[in-house]
Amino acid sequence: MTDKPRLTTSAGAPVPSNDTSMTAGERGPVLLQDYQLIEKLAHQNRERIPERVVHAKGWGAQGTFTVTHDITKYSKAAIFSEIGKKTEVLSRWSTVAGESGAADTERDVRGFSLKFYTEDGNWDLVGNNTPVFFVRDAYKFPDFIRTQKRHPKTNLRSPEAMFDFWAAQPECVHQVTILMSDRGIPTNPMHMNGYGSHTFSFINADGERFWVKFHFKTQQGHKHYTNQEAETLIGKTRESYQEDLYTAIDSGEFPKWTLFVQIMPETDAEKVPYNPFDLTKVWPHGDYPLIEVGELEMNRNPENYFQMVENAAYSPSNVVPGIGYSPDKMLQARVFSYADAHRYRLGTHYEMLPANVAKAAKVQHYHKDGSMRFFTNDFGNADAYYEPNQHGGPVADPSVAEPPLRINGDAARYTQLDSDADYVQPRALFNLFDDDQKKRLFSNYAAAMGPCSAEVKERWYAVLARVHPDYAAGVRAANEASDSDVNAISVTDETPTETGA
Ligand code: NDP
Repeated sequence: MTDKPRLTTSAGAPVPSNDTSMTAGERGPVLLQDYQLIEKLAHQNRERIPERVVHAKGWGAQGTFTVTHDITKYSKAAIFSEIGKKTEVLSRWSTVAGESGAADTERDVRGFSLKFYTEDGNWDLVGNNTPVFFVRDAYKFPDFIRTQKRHPKTNLRSPEAMFDFWAAQPECVHQVTILMSDRGIPTNPMHMNGYGSHTFSFINADGERFWVKFHFKTQQGHKHYTNQEAETLIGKTRESYQEDLYTAIDSGEFPKWTLFVQIMPETDAEKVPYNPFDLTKVWPHGDYPLIEVGELEMNRNPENYFQMVENAAYSPSNVVPGIGYSPDKMLQARVFSYADAHRYRLGTHYEMLPANVAKAAKVQHYHKDGSMRFFTNDFGNADAYYEPNQHGGPVADPSVAEPPLRINGDAARYTQLDSDADYVQPRALFNLFDDDQKKRLFSNYAAAMGPCSAEVKERWYAVLARVHPDYAAGVRAANEASDSDVNAISVTDETPTETGA
């Protein structure tokens, strides 16, 4: 017996050996009764769960959100109730398209997800490092993601599919412009902003509703890699985000973000010249200025990555009293599909895993059996397992109901007309870029579009021309220059010469 802790079976019994199989004789076959060997091999076979269909590669941390400014006139959410209030947070950042082993510094949108463990339950803000998204109707979401993943025959990613799709959905041009800009490859999650992206709602204590956008601005400053820098880095390490983030937090350099909100009074939604619930649009800061709320500090590396980051289940369906949804069509679809993805990926009771279980609120519901039903909720009386009951089981609280939302209109499928509205905001962004930023934007396109057919390129130039003629001309010129560079490349052949050198 040593003074080291005693190894046990998963049932808690001491294990006599963890390195030598039990065999029939010294050279004989292994006995089936060596259950610990079977258990060990069986566990290995089950160490992976399905990776996320999107956002498979991720990096996470734990930390704190602190309120610095009073916004109680907009929201009664407990998390914002007083200046100085602290709430525990779990973050996960991710790329979208790459699989779980993909390189960190690929050009892609980054997921920016936060789980706030509030005393009224968990609030999940499941956003991106961009304030907009490619499409505004969930019908297009599975097709869009398919164009980002692998081609069914070649099993390669397909620039042709990406730009074919984008050219047919001009509303994408806002997000594609951000993707192809400098911000398309942040150096790591600490040097990028996070946005809730969708419009959400705030409800105050008087029952008034406001529409709200969330912005987390990095205090570390924006830093990004050029394509060339990212390629060189990937040649050395594919895990630079995990390395940078883990090392910073481990050495006490805690990354921080300032939370701002934009607030729109409920009835303004009918007056603004764009659809404020369209995920391909921002609200101009000039119209709805940023209002400071608080500070997010990520200050702990999870003890176990799989337990806290791989098992983390973020869903926009997780809102709390004082924070609600909006009519945004994409948000409505995500409210269903994210929770559903977790039921499939993690199991029916995924909300009870350590990463997801409410920490400051008591969970009391009547959902019953299913995978991972490892907790009880008999509410002190085993007879209270249905509702209504006379046994003191939990009951709904009408005081947290949201005020009614006035909606009118005929049930129909409202096709979004191709209008200048889709080009105004990308144009504003293009006009913000200085000449060097534009040059890099054009050459990033050339790198991304190189393999596309002439037909797809022409269709995309037509979309860009509606944003700005200089945009289309710049991308065309960069593509043409890059085509001639590619033709000039010669390949060194290592076939031995006849002299046999
Ligand atoms: P503002 O001049 O007030 O805001 C411009 C915004 O652009 C800033 O928030 C800045 O972010 C951001 N920005 C700068 N470079 C990039 C980039 N490469 N990719 C993405 N964002 C970038 O003008 P408006 O509010 O009128 O917005 C003009 C355009 O800026 C919009 O059409 C939109 O494309 C973009 N934008 C707007 C945001 C908004 O919520 N209004 C948010 C982000 C982008 P930072 O402050 O971090 O430097």
